[in-house]
Amino acid sequence: MAESSTSEDLFAQARGNESNERFYNLCFWGRNHPPFPMPCSQYTTQFISSRGNEYFCEIDEEYLTDRFNLTGLNTEVPYYQYALDLVTDVFDLDADDDLREQIEKSARHLYGLVHARYIVTTRGLGKMAEKYKNGDFGKCPRVLCEGQHLLPMGLHDIANQSTVRLYCAKCEDIYNPKSSRHSSIDGAYFGSSFHSIFFQVFPNLVPPKSTRRYEPRIYGFRVHASAALARWQDRYREQMRSRLNEAGVEVKYAEDSEVEDDDEEDSEGEDQVSEVKEEKVLGDAASGRMDLGN
Ligand SMILES: [Zn+2]
Repeated sequence: MAESSTSEDLFAQARGNESNERFYNLCFWGRNHPPFPMPCSQYTTQFISSRGNEYFCEIDEEYLTDRFNLTGLNTEVPYYQYALDLVTDVFDLDADDDLREQIEKSARHLYGLVHARYIVTTRGLGKMAEKYKNGDFGKCPRVLCEGQHLLPMGLHDIANQSTVRLYCAKCEDIYNPKSSRHSSIDGAYFGSSFHSIFFQVFPNLVPPKSTRRYEPRIYGFRVHASAALARWQDRYREQMRSRLNEAGVEVKYAEDSEVEDDDEEDSEGEDQVSEVKEEKVLGDAASGRMDLGN
């Protein structure tokens, strides 16, 4: 996939090539909307551009003003109506500084809660895909993930339970944000399902799984206990792959395609499993791994 492709392209690719244009015209923009960016409120533009809010995307004004999308939030946000007025640029209350501050805090909270709903809509997912591609959410700190881009997510869908975490689709683990600016953002502003929905909608953005991992060594020799554990994990992974294969689920690892490219061989079904095992042994011998026994 070309680096310059837009979220619409990604969405179209994700859905296959048949009648792409018609599909995303209907889904991405809705039946009556021409394909150009939807207007956002001034508050939204300001909110997005302020420091510390880099993880958020712009919520369309149309989405913010549709009461259906805000169902239930009036009981969760103090000064709800004022906060909503502020977010949608119709706030004209002559409030003192204290009250103004309270309302601004509420408006931020409201924006966050609506954001969690918006980013699982088609347009929201498209915007987050753009940000993901640009690496706006940072890169995985794990060395073997080689700078894999992260995606923000929450551990809870209810506010004030936990702060935002970052999900790496390569090692399938979560991390704390590096910057203190981001570590205080509520995880509920992204929700616990967003990252999973994201990769379901954009399967082509799922990075290839890798079998590579760090191997502790002492003067070149593998450390016994961790080597034994690694062997057990390798064996377990193979068993899991066989079971997945039997169930008709195909799991591809980045290393497989590298070897396939080298050999230019096509294999299917059961042959593939045995081939992978052979590659593994070859790989171990090539890397000079020494088996110290169980
Ligand atoms: Zn990672």
